[in-house]
Amino acid sequence: MKLMQLSRTTAASGQSIFSRQVQTLALLAPALLLAACTSVPLPPWTPPVPRPAQSAPASVEQTVQTFPVAPPAVIAPAPVGQPAPYSAAVAARFPAPAVVYSTPGLQAQRTSFTTQAEIEAWLGDQALAASRAGVSAAVLPVGRSQRGETVQALVLTRATGTDPAALLATGRPTVLLIGQQHGDEPAGSEALLVMARELAQGLLLPVLGRINVVIVPRANPDGAASGQRATTGGLDMNRDHLLLSTPEAQGLARLMRDYQPTVVVDAHEYTAAGRFVEKFGAVQKYDALLQYATTANLPEFLTKAAEEWYRRPMLAALKAQGLSSEWYYTTSSNLADKKLSMGGTQPDTGRNVNGLKNAVSLLVETRGVGLGRLHIQRRVHTQVTALSSVLASTAQRASELGQLRPYIDKEISALACTGEALVESAPTPAQYELVMLDPASGADKTVTVDWDSALALRTIKTRPRPCGYWLSAESGTAAERLRLHGVQVMRVTEFGSVLGENYRETSRAAAERQDVRGTMTGNAPIIKVQVSLMRGLLDVPRGSYYVPLNQPLGNLVIAALEPDTQSSFFANRVLDGLQSAFRVMAEPVFKLEALN
Ligand SMILES: [Zn+2]
Repeated sequence: MKLMQLSRTTAASGQSIFSRQVQTLALLAPALLLAACTSVPLPPWTPPVPRPAQSAPASVEQTVQTFPVAPPAVIAPAPVGQPAPYSAAVAARFPAPAVVYSTPGLQAQRTSFTTQAEIEAWLGDQALAASRAGVSAAVLPVGRSQRGETVQALVLTRATGTDPAALLATGRPTVLLIGQQHGDEPAGSEALLVMARELAQGLLLPVLGRINVVIVPRANPDGAASGQRATTGGLDMNRDHLLLSTPEAQGLARLMRDYQPTVVVDAHEYTAAGRFVEKFGAVQKYDALLQYATTANLPEFLTKAAEEWYRRPMLAALKAQGLSSEWYYTTSSNLADKKLSMGGTQPDTGRNVNGLKNAVSLLVETRGVGLGRLHIQRRVHTQVTALSSVLASTAQRASELGQLRPYIDKEISALACTGEALVESAPTPAQYELVMLDPASGADKTVTVDWDSALALRTIKTRPRPCGYWLSAESGTAAERLRLHGVQVMRVTEFGSVLGENYRETSRAAAERQDVRGTMTGNAPIIKVQVSLMRGLLDVPRGSYYVPLNQPLGNLVIAALEPDTQSSFFANRVLDGLQSAFRVMAEPVFKLEALN
């Protein structure tokens, strides 16, 4: 925003926009750096204080932490439709919770989860109920799925309106909860309907005095309708958050850009039996698998906040409900490969890309894929417990979070033109003792596994961090995708030249994108190149683009525009060729205007 104002002011005076901008930032930078070493008002870093279990609920946090309590009871639905994938002894390890949740899809005798039409009606009802309670509420279209279904968001706030400016004006942190990016993972979606009701008219209503909440219960309605992981076109939308080639991912990016949530939670489910039984002769044990953003160039403070302010209280909340949890892990579909991997380190998942947008970004996975309706109340209870913990943590840390985000935004902006940036990093191979379940007896079974840890990233490739990137005039698609992320892109208004680094191709191969599950299906082959850099004075024609790195999303820009990674715009043909972009290595003095 500051960048924008500065640009406009300078444009009016007819001077070179960017030199002024860089000068101003250059003046600010030492102060910022000094402050980072000494007296910057870093968020005070006190670990959460454990609360006595039986203290009377006297504050918002305590009220929230007493949740969940049973909504109106209905008869717990019997598993319908598909046989249990494991023995009764295993199933007995997962008793139904004392709470009975009631959504359209959780009704007794239902064979299908909540339909898209029922979600729409439910969100409308919650918005109405919230309005009666004096809460500003709206159901917004986030976008359209490939089959034309409307993806919807419910906004709940004590702001005077439900538009992004009204929420931002409250100064309160906004939490974005996303469910069912993968269509065959229904517990997240059902749990988010529960959360919507409890926020609008139930036990979570008081938390809206401290935070704003935006809920997208079902991000992939087409996948949900057909019970499949991917979107209609076969693409996994949760690997599309940098490229934004699907309308589903584009819709979420627009929502992120406009509402600027401080915290994002992505609710998923994981495979409990299936390939784990084939590989390890064991069923998976944990009610919840958890992970925060783990990708190159994330600010350290963001990771620390995710760990100390969110994951640890979440572990305690789950434990208090008798629910078990572990770090998130998965395994490839190749049965010969016995390695387990934590969630990936590529900048393509919602978890990682939302981290690169400087949000505290959390993944919550319940054991559910392949289980049909088995243990559905327990799965929903696990999600509701974890998500309620996130809301409570945000309410409790509202003022610190209010300091954290502007600090991180400034810190990243100040890095432009300095030091090294990671181009690529990878998880660290390790061994891990993981508890699984014996498929017959249901007893715990400890397995020592090869384990790719995403908590310790290995550096694969670094480069000096440029001041920004130039894009050719023909790179309109790339410019638009960046802008959809909230990146400020400038247009060159007069021919100029600048010290830059071109990419020279040293090798090229067709390849497939890989994730921790193996080769990703539904994607076109990528162009995998190795490059060297050639430095020189490079022409900057009128009508081409400049993407400065002295902005909060600088790290996301690096992930998109360094070409020699599998997630990049170049590798995935969002950019036409290697010559469509170069690294700008000095303060540009050519004339620019901000795109509106
Ligand atoms: Zn998933």
